[in-house]
Amino acid sequence: MTHIITSLCVRDRGCIDVCPVECMVPGHPINEWPWIYIDPDTCIDCGACVPECPFAAIFPEDEVPSAYTAKGGEYISNVGLTGHFEGTNHHGGPIVLDTTRQLEAGEVVDFTPDIQPNYDFFKSGPGYSAKDVDNGM
Ligand code: SF4
Ligand code: SF4
Repeated sequence: MTHIITSLCVRDRGCIDVCPVECMVPGHPINEWPWIYIDPDTCIDCGACVPECPFAAIFPEDEVPSAYTAKGGEYISNVGLTGHFEGTNHHGGPIVLDTTRQLEAGEVVDFTPDIQPNYDFFKSGPGYSAKDVDNGM
């Protein structure tokens, strides 16, 4: 198994520092790979990253919610969305995302489609080579 980062990820980067096996990679280009991705072959399911995420975006693979009820106001980020998010990440650097929308209170969201992109990122996407072009955003 592995842990999965869902579309609740807004690239705060708080999780990356705590991973003991350095298997979390910031996606690039951001509009195609908007999250941080966990290498499923290297993740040891230690769970250390979960409490570090201020946006509660990380789940064990078998606990990714299929019916998440939104509090309202959460941002999700995904390919094809057109909303804008700006913030400051865990290291004080800027976050700018143009693939977002905000959830409405009571909206029910299935995050299980977010599982496959985490595998695809390492199988057919940029994988660890994205680290070479990482600009800190
Ligand atoms: S801490 Fe959460 S929001 Fe930030 S990069 Fe990690 S998963 Fe994404
Ligand atoms: S569960 Fe542990 S090994 Fe897996 S990504 Fe999170 S911190 Fe890294």
